Amino acid sequence: MEAPATPARSLVVSEYDDRLTRVGIQKDHYEWSTHTNDDFIEWWHRTKWYIAESRKPAKSQKIPTWGKQRHSAGWEYFNEAAERISGEPKLICQRCDHPIKHPKKNGTTGLSSHPLSIGCRAIAMQRGLGQPTIQEGFKAGVRPENLPEICTS
Ligand SMILES: [Zn+2]
Repeated sequence: MEAPATPARSLVVSEYDDRLTRVGIQKDHYEWSTHTNDDFIEWWHRTKWYIAESRKPAKSQKIPTWGKQRHSAGWEYFNEAAERISGEPKLICQRCDHPIKHPKKNGTTGLSSHPLSIGCRAIAMQRGLGQPTIQEGFKAGVRPENLPEICTS
């Protein structure tokens, strides 16, 4: 019996490591960005998560549009990413690198609650980031290199 002319190529996990950026505390996510969009989408469409989700009825699909402008409070403090093994969409916190569930699937509560969580605040403190308040936002920029040194004397 002959093999099909175009057999489906199974996804090798490390196949995209040189084209996509690994992010998150465990470096177990690929980051979405405008310049890696094509490679990211090519990879993502081959992941288990995407394949399973795209087979659901259109009404129950929770497939995010990558890079779409979001307006919920807190969105700008996260980068979009997806789990490297499964392809599940996530957001990565810019303050502590912790992944949270993607709002497309789980709503936007995590966007505002995560930066105030004990775990995020502890790591942000270690990194010399100020304590966030939702009211103030982190308008000055959330990465350590963008913030003034905190004087501890
Ligand atoms: Zn965080």
